[in-house]
Amino acid sequence: MRTKEEDLIRYKDGSLYCEPADVWIDPNRPVKTALITHAHFDHFAFGCNEYFSTKETAILLRERVRDNINIKTFDYGEEFKINGIRISFHPSGHILGSSQIRFIFAEEKWLITGDFKLQKDETCKEYEVVKTDYLISECTFGLPIFKWDETNKIAVNIAKWITNSPDKTSLLFCYSLGKAQRLLNEISKTNFKGNIYSHSSIEKINNCYKKLGISIINTTKIENKNKIDELKGSLILLPPSLSKGSYLKNFKNIQTAFASGWMSIRALRKRSGYDKGFPISDHADWDGILEVVKKSEAKNVFFHHGDSEALSQFLVEKESINVLR
Ligand SMILES: [Zn+2]
Ligand SMILES: [Zn+2]
Repeated sequence: MRTKEEDLIRYKDGSLYCEPADVWIDPNRPVKTALITHAHFDHFAFGCNEYFSTKETAILLRERVRDNINIKTFDYGEEFKINGIRISFHPSGHILGSSQIRFIFAEEKWLITGDFKLQKDETCKEYEVVKTDYLISECTFGLPIFKWDETNKIAVNIAKWITNSPDKTSLLFCYSLGKAQRLLNEISKTNFKGNIYSHSSIEKINNCYKKLGISIINTTKIENKNKIDELKGSLILLPPSLSKGSYLKNFKNIQTAFASGWMSIRALRKRSGYDKGFPISDHADWDGILEVVKKSEAKNVFFHHGDSEALSQFLVEKESINVLR
């Protein structure tokens, strides 16, 4: 993405910056004021003087960082002003508390989507369509080959994968924040009735979600080695960082799977080293990104976080939308 000096929001040192308000959006290093779209660590830098986010994001960040960080919180849609610029957070449907951020200055509107998805997810607020003049959208999965299946179908496939191997322990790797809770919510609606365990990093977030009023089924924290024989036919949710190395030696007779949008690509699935891949993502697919661009009514679009070549070409040729690159 390339922007100009006079733009309300522009790229500076690899992060999005609003100069008239002197605020950074998801900065990659310590700055004075950081607006945080959501609590995933690739959108958070330690050491900022002050952070602005939604209430849920602040609670999740404090749970993960365990640090007395200075966060000012806002409700979705609640407008605040910095140097005359009106700023507000709006649901992005990515994970609990995730938001798009809108800036209005002299009647000119800018919207940063943050990470977003349109698919239904009962563990967070649904994506809100926000009209804008300038749209800065993520495009992690911005290629026509990305087209997500219904989430409930994936959940049924996961349930079948477990029950078809009753003698095995099924290890499902997924991101601890957001993906794990969404999977638990979806799996609880299938006919899988076996035991579900989760790693302490996932349990911690489950409890946070529950405290924030999201219904998540109870799982047992997976702790020690002596349970090995009781785990037959069970599902265990683990963070991807544990998929390599000695941790797997704690289990006997396992099958492994990874839940990620990248698993929709056969070559990546094969190379991943997991026995199985379940393509489920908390980001928008190709159609989702296009839908958001159209519904936002933006006349100027910037993409970041991904390969935007195909999207840019499509929008310029078919939709006459100005894509700045
Ligand atoms: Zn994210
Ligand atoms: Zn991200």
